[in-house]
Amino acid sequence: MKAFDKEHILHPYAPSTPLADMELVTSASSVYLELDNGKKIIDGMSSWWSVIHGYNVPALNEAATKQLSKMSHVMFGGLTHEPAIKLAQTLLSITDESLEHIFFSDSGSVSVEVALKMAFQYWTSQGEKKKTKILSFSKGYHGDTFGAMSVCDPVTGMHSAFEGILHKNIFANAPECSFEQEWDEAYIEDVKSKLKEHYKEVAAVILEPVVQGAGGMRIYAPTFVKRVKELCEEFDVLLILDEVATGFGRTGRLFAYEHAGIAPDILCIGKALTGGYMSLAATLCSKKVIQGVETNGNVLMHGPTFMANPLACAVANASVELLLASPWQERVQNIQEQLQNELGKCEELAIVKEVRTLGAIGVVELHKNVDLAFMTPAFIAEGVWVRPFLNLVYIMPPFVITQEELTHLTTAIYKVVKAYEDLML
Ligand SMILES: *Cc1c(COP(=O)(O)O)cnc(C)c1O
Repeated sequence: MKAFDKEHILHPYAPSTPLADMELVTSASSVYLELDNGKKIIDGMSSWWSVIHGYNVPALNEAATKQLSKMSHVMFGGLTHEPAIKLAQTLLSITDESLEHIFFSDSGSVSVEVALKMAFQYWTSQGEKKKTKILSFSKGYHGDTFGAMSVCDPVTGMHSAFEGILHKNIFANAPECSFEQEWDEAYIEDVKSKLKEHYKEVAAVILEPVVQGAGGMRIYAPTFVKRVKELCEEFDVLLILDEVATGFGRTGRLFAYEHAGIAPDILCIGKALTGGYMSLAATLCSKKVIQGVETNGNVLMHGPTFMANPLACAVANASVELLLASPWQERVQNIQEQLQNELGKCEELAIVKEVRTLGAIGVVELHKNVDLAFMTPAFIAEGVWVRPFLNLVYIMPPFVITQEELTHLTTAIYKVVKAYEDLML
């Protein structure tokens, strides 16, 4: 099986013939992935932010099975169903009250495409044809489809491979102020001047609030988000917040924008929405946005085949319910404190540039880029699954991880980073 995979199956951002052999996962439960050799390893990545309750969760299995026996799918054009209606009610009730409409889609990238369409149609429907650009940020990541790529970091993102093909947007400097740092207006100067210069052509600003994820795992001050919101109001552009990674408690708040005490015009969510069971995402927006889009008889132009898939919605309902009924705040707070204490030790290593944590996210930034060929087997030998990129060794474990399991993870990170440092010397 592994040989066939190596021959024919493409994996994310990887050559068609991978250099290293890939592990084959046969099952998973709680925070453990079981490999085909019987070894169990702790998943530090929550399968890319999504598996917040761990794997093989009885309540989620039950929700899926129950829905499966009713209907696993039905088209959403002209039809509706209870799992979608219930999920919409829940999501609209746990997000800011100004968000009154919701569009379901199948992945985070598509939720961003929908957000961009909402922003562009908001202006074009009202006869404003010049607002054809988005203001985004360096080090931002918003997905891999074309619209989403066009607002990802232009240097470290995928722009270079698609030079001349992507829509040209405007980029402001990445937020530089750390989470705790005292606020200085200088931090927002670049955004302000870019908006001042370009607001007539800017439809919306897009930002990952408080944590820039796949573009560099950067944690920054909530005041930055608040000031961006104020500037959007001042210059009359919409604000899209992309919480595909940060949503559902990951940063210590249910949604990261809560740290800033503001709300966006448009909100993207995904990843942890179904507890990592299946692909589902959503774009929420205010009444103002939808009224703008629908001016002069227009409608939002999007409609995926598997929109609001009932099976995914049923599992999402169970996942959100499970999250809200759990002591998630306490769990995330405990994880944050433990990550701070235990990953902090990595700072004594010369190869480590900085350790940063927020909520259930821990990042060890190195002075050197990582070598997956060395690190992946080293982590597996330690009994953990950690998937570093660029110069970042980072984890965002399931919220249900125990203290001992988390210590296992952080100890493995220290050991592997130290071994990497020794190798580099
Ligand atoms: C992962 C991610 C996306 C893209 O989501 P997919 O489900 O992979 O398409 C978009 N925005 C952010 C912030 C993400 O972390």
